[in-house]
Amino acid sequence: NRDQVINFAPGPAKLPQEVLEQAQKDMLSYNNLGISVMEMSHRSSDFSKIINNAENLLRELLQIPDNYKVLYLQGGGTGQFSAVPLNFLNLKEGHTADYIVTGAWSAKAAKEAEKYGKVNVVYPKLDKYTTIPDPSTWNLNPEASYVYYCANETIHGVEFQFVPETNGVPIVADMSSNILTRPVDISKFGLIYAGAQKNIGCAGVTLVIVREDLIGRAMKECPSVLDYKNQVGMNSMFNTPPTWSIYIMGLVFQWLKNLGGAAAMEELNRKKSESLYSTIDSLPEFYFCPVDKPARSRMNVPFRIGSPSGDETLEKRFLEEAQKRGFVSLKGHRSVGGLRASLYNAVTTQDVDKLVSFMKEFHQTNQ
Ligand code: PMP
Repeated sequence: NRDQVINFAPGPAKLPQEVLEQAQKDMLSYNNLGISVMEMSHRSSDFSKIINNAENLLRELLQIPDNYKVLYLQGGGTGQFSAVPLNFLNLKEGHTADYIVTGAWSAKAAKEAEKYGKVNVVYPKLDKYTTIPDPSTWNLNPEASYVYYCANETIHGVEFQFVPETNGVPIVADMSSNILTRPVDISKFGLIYAGAQKNIGCAGVTLVIVREDLIGRAMKECPSVLDYKNQVGMNSMFNTPPTWSIYIMGLVFQWLKNLGGAAAMEELNRKKSESLYSTIDSLPEFYFCPVDKPARSRMNVPFRIGSPSGDETLEKRFLEEAQKRGFVSLKGHRSVGGLRASLYNAVTTQDVDKLVSFMKEFHQTNQ
């Protein structure tokens, strides 16, 4: 039963109850058409309404300026690791890009970009991903085609609370795990992308918001399906788009709008993450968050139990006990171990309150 489960999954992640209920209602017959969204042509007028409605809601929620295009693509965030350099490395003659590497996902993106041009990682490799080096120490190249960063590192729990200053060099941001969790000034960016499966829907669709003037200079080797120009020209229908995932995303956008949009989410996410971090910090001999305070993610909270590097016996017991109480997906990513709670938009303050009570109780009985 859904009521007995509290889902802190890192993605795919919890969806709002209202969205699932609406999808359930529409499942067999959308809008009295006698067919489901999954069974309808992407070129039908009914689907056009779905995709246009999603875009209008998104434009309103993020106040996207008119000189930005919205695309719904496949291939996930990982597909964008390739699409970004293939489309943008040519923006300047040097074919170089600056990468700010703060965790596993930006490291992967930088590695992928190296296949296509010269990548400058703007500071020496960090030995652990627990901080964002001070911008005054970054070695940004003014001739770079673009500057890339990951706004929220889902595995390491490192989040930018600011948009980097790049003196006019276009900024590309991976917002896969924090899009629509607070307002953002789109005009500061060249391109933003986000897989849907954390804050804005289910897996299968990747949202891309791209500034018009940067489109059309892809390398000739760029696969046609990854060339933003082709997708913009065909309104994301250069090939069959992920129709069901787009429909779910539209429902999530409507849900977000009903709740007060990005500003309301910012407040909610601040409350949830503060509550969890303050619990961890209030029991410092027992719980440990490895991330420097200014870089702590509001979305993904990694923590250890027993010692700063983790007591695996205690952590295993924590997960077993948690499971019995209905908490799911609290295990840290396999590459870092420990625990992680992911607090995306659909996770409620009540969900976090329950986790906090459980953590206090677990401390009491295991200290
Ligand atoms: N970027 C970030 C920040 C992510 O969290 C993830 C996936 N968890 C990816 C990129 C890769 O996304 P996908 O699995 O959709 O390719």
